[in-house]
Amino acid sequence: MTETDDLQAFLNDLDRQMHIKGDWGTPARYIPELADIDPAQFAISVALADGRVLSSGSAQKRFSIQSVSKVFTLAVALGRIGDQLWTRVGREPSGTSFDSIVLLEREQGRPRNPFINAGALVTTDAMLEGRMPQDALAELIQFLRAACEDDDIHIDKDVARSEAATAHRNTALVHYLLSHGNLHNAPELTLGTYVHQCAIAMTTQQLARAGRMLAGLPDAPRLISARRARRINALMMTCGHYDGSGDFAYRVGLPGKSGVGGGILIIAPGKASIAVWSPGLNHYGNSQVGTEAAQRLGQFTGWSVFG
Ligand code: GLN
Repeated sequence: MTETDDLQAFLNDLDRQMHIKGDWGTPARYIPELADIDPAQFAISVALADGRVLSSGSAQKRFSIQSVSKVFTLAVALGRIGDQLWTRVGREPSGTSFDSIVLLEREQGRPRNPFINAGALVTTDAMLEGRMPQDALAELIQFLRAACEDDDIHIDKDVARSEAATAHRNTALVHYLLSHGNLHNAPELTLGTYVHQCAIAMTTQQLARAGRMLAGLPDAPRLISARRARRINALMMTCGHYDGSGDFAYRVGLPGKSGVGGGILIIAPGKASIAVWSPGLNHYGNSQVGTEAAQRLGQFTGWSVFG
C-alpha cells in the first residue's frame, strides 16, 4: 500500500467515524437560509503536494463558505493596497467572538485582526475602494476560480439575501467603523459586498484546491508570493477561529479558517491544503465535527507545525 492509499483509507474511515459519533453541533441560527440545514453531514478533501486531491463524504456538495472567504478577501485587499491595510486593522487575536463589538470601542475603531467581522468589514472596504461592489466581487470570484483552476464557483444569492435581511450586528459594526473614520465606502456598499463574499458556495474539493497557494504546493497557481502566504497562514493560526483559535491550534496544530457555514480551510505548509465541512457548530461558532476530523487527520499524518 502506498502512503496515498493509507490516507484514502483513513479518510473513508473518518467519514464513517464521524457519522457513528453523531455529535454534530448546531447550524448557524442567525442566518435563516443556513438555519434549517441538516447538521448530520460531513465532507473532507485533501490536496496533496503530488497534485492529487483525496476526499471522502459529501465532497461534491456545495456549502456556504462564509468566513472562510475572509482569507481570500485579505489576499485580494493586500494585493491592491499592500501593507497600508495594517494602518486600518491589526494582527492580534481578539479573544472575543467573531461578531463582537466590544474591543472596537476601546481601540478607537481599529479592529484587532482581519478575521473577526469588524476587521473583515475593513478588509472588504479596502478591497472595494474606488469601484462598484460587482467589480470587486468579480475580482474575488476570479481570484478563487484561478486559485482552484475551476470556473464553477458562484455566489448563492439566496444566502446573501437571507444574511442581508438579518445583518443587524454587522450593520452596527460598519456604522461604528464609519464613526471612527475607518470605513471609506458607503456602509451599505461595504456590507452588501461582505454578505455576498460570505455567500460564495464551494465544495470541499474546490476549497482544498483554492488553499494550495497558501500551502505552497508545487502545482498551485502563483497568485500570491510565498512571503504573503506565510503571513496569511500566521494570521489563520492566531486568529482564524476567533476566541477558539488557541483551542484549534492546540488540537490540530495547523493554521485554519472557519466559517459559520461549517467549513474550515486548513493549511499544512509544504504538505497539503485541507477543506472540511460539517454544518453543525460548537459554542465558538466553528464546525464541531470539522474540528474533530481535523484533529484526527493531524494525529494520523503528523502534519502539526509544532512537530
Ligand atoms: N457572514 C457571517 C457573519 O458575518 C460570517 C461569520 C462567520 O462565518 N464566522 O456573521
